[in-house]
Amino acid sequence: MSIDGFLFVSVLLLGLAIGSFLNVCIHRVPSQMSVVSPGSRCPSCGYGLTWADNIPVVSYALLGGKCRSCRAGISIRYPIVELITMGVFVLHFLVLGPQPLLVPRLLFACAMIVLFAIDLEHHLLPNVITLPGIVAGLLFSVVLPPGLVSSIIGILIGGGSLWLIGEAYYRYSGQEGMGGGDVKMLAMIGAFLGWKLTIVTLVLSSVLGALVGLLVIVSRRGDLKYALPYGTFLALAGLCASLYGDAIVAWYVGFYTVP
Ligand SMILES: [Zn+2]
Repeated sequence: MSIDGFLFVSVLLLGLAIGSFLNVCIHRVPSQMSVVSPGSRCPSCGYGLTWADNIPVVSYALLGGKCRSCRAGISIRYPIVELITMGVFVLHFLVLGPQPLLVPRLLFACAMIVLFAIDLEHHLLPNVITLPGIVAGLLFSVVLPPGLVSSIIGILIGGGSLWLIGEAYYRYSGQEGMGGGDVKMLAMIGAFLGWKLTIVTLVLSSVLGALVGLLVIVSRRGDLKYALPYGTFLALAGLCASLYGDAIVAWYVGFYTVP
């Protein structure tokens, strides 16, 4: 196997293994439990999972989506999160190639996946992820792209824009439209990706949100509005920006400079 092939398979397996850990985070962070101990247990019967029950995707398939001990159903979310994490890891490897920037970008992708799932289920973007995320993005940017200055401007633009939109909406409607979690999440995206890709994220998330909003109006299913909180759009847009943001910026700049 070539070195690139070996790296590809390593990233793929790493994605599956980390995806398994992200499941633990998604399950435990909202209820403020430790993500390290105790080991995973069946929520129905308390059976402690062994290594054989913990192999990403494979265990779920072999057990038919049921607990080995009590046969209670295991959420399909587990293998889905593992496969999505694998896919996002592989895509980043293919787009960025084997370079140091892959490390912060994979960490960033993990945060986006966890925030997406927690916001979807609990309408919550925990500070315990977003605040250390801002610091981590800033520290990585000292030595890696986008660079410290772009990272700091990204934090200010990301946090500031959503804070202003939230303020304006509150003054206008008297309702809380934008949670503080969204503000901190886009600040974190700014810290990791820099100011240009923060603007890309903001635009993409707005377009996604507007499309879903239109869908809600057309289908007259008003409950969808509450089913999909803004953090889920930010997570999707942040992942897109991490992968294709530079290409989008290059296309946009070319669009306006070529006569
Ligand atoms: Zn069980």
